[in-house]
Amino acid sequence: MKILYRSYDASTTIFKELEAEYPKYFKIESIGQTWEKRDINLITISKNIKTANSKPALFYTGTIHAREWIGHELAIEFASYVLRNLETDPTLQTYLSESTIYMVPCANPDGYEYSRNHFSFWRKNRRQNMDGTYGVDLNRNFPIGFVKSTNTSSNVYGGPEPFSEPETQSLRDFVLAHPNITIALDYHSQGNVFFPAHDFRHEDTIDTIDMNTLCANMAEEIRKISGREYGIHQGKPPAKLISGSGREFYYSQGILSSVVEVGTRNISDYMEDMNENIREHIPALIYALKEVDNYSKNSPMSRVNSFDVTEIGSNHVNLKWDFTIDKDVYFEIFRSRSDKHFCNASNLITKTQSLEFSDINLASNKDYFYNIRAVNKKTNQK
Ligand SMILES: [Zn+2]
Repeated sequence: MKILYRSYDASTTIFKELEAEYPKYFKIESIGQTWEKRDINLITISKNIKTANSKPALFYTGTIHAREWIGHELAIEFASYVLRNLETDPTLQTYLSESTIYMVPCANPDGYEYSRNHFSFWRKNRRQNMDGTYGVDLNRNFPIGFVKSTNTSSNVYGGPEPFSEPETQSLRDFVLAHPNITIALDYHSQGNVFFPAHDFRHEDTIDTIDMNTLCANMAEEIRKISGREYGIHQGKPPAKLISGSGREFYYSQGILSSVVEVGTRNISDYMEDMNENIREHIPALIYALKEVDNYSKNSPMSRVNSFDVTEIGSNHVNLKWDFTIDKDVYFEIFRSRSDKHFCNASNLITKTQSLEFSDINLASNKDYFYNIRAVNKKTNQK
């Protein structure tokens, strides 16, 4: 069996080799240094590295929690997969002509090395707190919902103030300097679940529906590979669970964002599952990449408004919506039997240019859920 879980230095070497082999498509740079003076690697993948920053982008972060090693390994394997296949896979070529991938494979290099070499269950970074304890939970060090605490020995100690840590400062500065980022995925373990960002309003805002649908479609890609079912849980504010996390910070910058909890165990004892987890997450990431362009802030596509039910019969339902008429635009309607369901070709029930639709042959006394999106047939933007 292939032994994975490479050291931080080993992954840096791999990325430098990829850069030498694929200079047109790939770049590695440092976006800052940790307490222990390790470079925080940021890698970029694009069809044309020179124009990468002008394209809408996916932002991947892994292993912000030291013991959650899968994020780092998945980043290495995903980057290698994309580069190895880019020249022969027309789908990847299309996605990477329109969009860019940024990855911080390991957002907590000091903690990761400490977890690998000394104490596998270590979670925080390696700041020396003033009282002899070590570490700040980097995913509690962002400003949204930051909780001030003096309990420095806690595993979820958020630091003296938001962005007190060089690791989170580096993530912040990179994100603020790259407004082209449209989707952010933060990889953790464990739980086989997506945790989309909370907007602290209701579960049915358009952004929330977009995030739930993105996650549901990624989950469906995973299910197709392994049969594994990923849940989607937004959580209810003001849950302590989400105080000061990167996910809400990215969302506050207008980025659709989710935590992805991979696998059922979080540390080194899950070697056997690892290859399978990586195998099932690569297509899910490619799906996310496909959606990046649709959430571009300068997209000319507007959203469908006032999507509503106008009539419910015993076996039909009439739907209606608003949209500024455009001869290049049609609408896709998806029907599902549960909330937070995927929307793909298998549950697409119509494509129409009309602003209303009657769905017939429904069973009575059953719940149905509908999603709609506008598609520009010339640009294929959605
Ligand atoms: Zn975590």
